[in-house]
Amino acid sequence: MAPPGFPVRRVVALGVPMLFSVLLQACVTSPFDSAESDDTTLRQLDTCSSSFGDGVPAFYTTYFRCVDVSVDGDDLVLASTDLPPHPSPYYETASENWEAWDDRGGEYHQNPNTLTAQAFVLRIPSAPVAKGIVVTEDMRDLTMLTSLDEFPGGTIGIALDGVSLYNATAAPGDDIREEQYTFDTWSAHPSPDGAYHHHSPNPGGLAVLEANGLVSTHVPGEAEIELYGIACDGTVVLGCTELDGGAVATEELDAQGGHVGDLRGADGTLHFAARYHTHMCAAIDADAFTPEIQYYNRCTVSSAVAP
Ligand SMILES: [Zn+2]
Ligand SMILES: [Zn+2]
Repeated sequence: MAPPGFPVRRVVALGVPMLFSVLLQACVTSPFDSAESDDTTLRQLDTCSSSFGDGVPAFYTTYFRCVDVSVDGDDLVLASTDLPPHPSPYYETASENWEAWDDRGGEYHQNPNTLTAQAFVLRIPSAPVAKGIVVTEDMRDLTMLTSLDEFPGGTIGIALDGVSLYNATAAPGDDIREEQYTFDTWSAHPSPDGAYHHHSPNPGGLAVLEANGLVSTHVPGEAEIELYGIACDGTVVLGCTELDGGAVATEELDAQGGHVGDLRGADGTLHFAARYHTHMCAAIDADAFTPEIQYYNRCTVSSAVAP
């Protein structure tokens, strides 16, 4: 007969490393980890997770998916993993969302980066304060670090589908007009740190409007309403139409396609009164890119360490 207690000691001896392993798991699990970043799960608009906290304005609940939005004091807080809810050759090949590169007649080439989950958080002021600047051609030069009024590098906004928006400049020494040939068919590419992002009109934002029954196509330039996202300072990024689908008063636009006006939805809801917004639209400006100059006085983006 085995001495009493022996089996118990065995269990304890095995239990210690198991406990350490569980603790270790707990330490490396971030709130951003979820099934949606699982390589074996196809990420799409219908399966990505979204959440809207108490008091979040209708602008966000109406037009956004794949983001977590909450109110904190006078700020709207938007958090996203930045993983696009559609296929991309920039996903790692093991991902269900990976697809082969489309060179579009040889014009486009893939950059060497792979997109990875991020954990960025934007704090957008509910009542942004204008700096009082007028955006001129000199300021809008598509070149980084040439004006104190430029948006910072990296993520400066969030698209309707949770993908990051960068400003209209490439890294120093690069040219965004050339770099755009590394965009995938959704008009985005990842930076060296894996952050997938847009600089230009793209089907991703319009696909959310289409999924929400607001437009019938996600082809940029052809949708009945073109909204792409919002920047950290409160600048709204539109396309070839106003938010209600109305025509853009192009004669009013500044050098980055911006002007101030009320933004109403097609149902008449006033989402923003006298709000600066830009129109990135190839039919208005051949250089149809995201804003480069920060109109309002605050941009707060934190990029937590990628999970
Ligand atoms: Zn880029
Ligand atoms: Zn407008």
